[in-house]
Amino acid sequence: MAIATINPTTGETLKIFESLEDGEIAAKLELAQQTFEQYRQTSFQLRSQWLQQAANILEQEKADFAKLMTLEMGKTLKSAIAEVEKCALVCRYYAENAPNFLADVTVKTDASHSFVKYQPLGIILAVMPWNFPFWQVFRFAAPALMAGNVGLLKHASNVPQCALAIEDIINRAGFPAGAFQTLLIGAAKVADLMADERVKAATLTGSEPAGASLAAASGKQIKKTVLELGGSDPFIVLESADLEAAVSTAVTARMLNNGQSCIAAKRFIVAETIADQFEKLLLQKIQALKVGDPLAADTDLGPLATPGILQDLDKQVQIAVESGAKVLTGGYALEDRPGNFYPPTIIIDIPLDHPIAKEEFFGPVALLFRVRDIDAAIKLANDSPFGLGASAWTNNEEEKNRLIQEIEAGAVFINSMVKSDPRLPFGGIKRSGYGRELSIQGIHEFVNIKTVWVK
Ligand code: NDP
Repeated sequence: MAIATINPTTGETLKIFESLEDGEIAAKLELAQQTFEQYRQTSFQLRSQWLQQAANILEQEKADFAKLMTLEMGKTLKSAIAEVEKCALVCRYYAENAPNFLADVTVKTDASHSFVKYQPLGIILAVMPWNFPFWQVFRFAAPALMAGNVGLLKHASNVPQCALAIEDIINRAGFPAGAFQTLLIGAAKVADLMADERVKAATLTGSEPAGASLAAASGKQIKKTVLELGGSDPFIVLESADLEAAVSTAVTARMLNNGQSCIAAKRFIVAETIADQFEKLLLQKIQALKVGDPLAADTDLGPLATPGILQDLDKQVQIAVESGAKVLTGGYALEDRPGNFYPPTIIIDIPLDHPIAKEEFFGPVALLFRVRDIDAAIKLANDSPFGLGASAWTNNEEEKNRLIQEIEAGAVFINSMVKSDPRLPFGGIKRSGYGRELSIQGIHEFVNIKTVWVK
């Protein structure tokens, strides 16, 4: 894929970038390694100060950064502004908390003094997607930099200007040149980077094939990876739920980021006693969404990021229909305008034994299922290759406990949509990946947890 800014609203190619030559990649790697030798000696105080300054820059220039995201991948401007604000939040969170998270921990043993010490690893490679082009990078960069690591970013090829803007923010914040560098390269270069002795570990957010490929390259080199991959998150609504709140949240949880979020609610699993009402309300709210220019303040749903994403989604919907499913609303690409527009769509009656029922729909398509009771709801929720997040709605305490206990996912949210929060760990199980980002667990992924024992 060419490294280029192509406006998904208009289809216009705005800027094309040359990918780095091998010599340029080598020079950036060398700078990263040299910087690490110095940077690892810097104090928490100094790193915190720089990260706070990065947060200041993000807040001061949020309108510009948001516009860049909207231009490159089509999210609505209002959601892009919220994303920049969240990046500032994660910077401040780690600036304040990392010194505690990484402080020595004394453990009483038969030694005169034994403790756990956290030390940086070196260069960490981040392979990142286009869907949250700022957030995904900052949620990696903030803990990695606080831990004393240095970062190399291989961002998705359709968001090069976001990638360069992030490098610039970190440099302007005061971090030494080389602490965080963007590599404008294609995916084919990633395996070579993993084979370089100076690159110590990698994190990837994206599709299963990309994750499997990075994990294979890293496995060959015995290097650690964190993978945050796809999901087909369930959104369970049981009889005692507050239906109005559940439906409103269902719309937000499905349509967030024009439907392109790993933790979007994708499979709506509703108790049959309330399913007619749920379906009616969902249809009303989804049909009221305004599809259009993502820069306009009243737009709810912008275009999909690339023509490829649009085609894949359209094909999945066609396969669902061929398998016997019914489309309640939407269900076809909007060809009356330029850009990658797909309308909000609801699909019902999907045969459970068809493979399409288990796929991730990365766009504004809600799959609606009816179940007899909580047993059937949990069974269907778990009948997925993925296990990222689950949202479940009920006011019955016993049901809440069962859902928390029995759902196979990295997160369970009761009476709320699944969302990431710097204070809580984030990540999946099964084919959604492994490892955790954010919180204390996230910063411990890329450090040497050193045991010290003194007689
Ligand atoms: P990809 O997984 O292809 O892209 C994500 C990142 O991985 C990009 O930087 C990409 O680079 C890179 N990449 C791709 N292939 C490899 C590889 N073999 N080795 C190393 N790095 C690689 O996602 P797409 O943009 O193609 O989207 C396809 C699907 O992936 C979506 O429909 C969705 O299901 C899922 N996805 C999930 C995301 C999530 O948040 N979990 C985010 C984005 C996508 P390049 O852009 O240069 O190809």
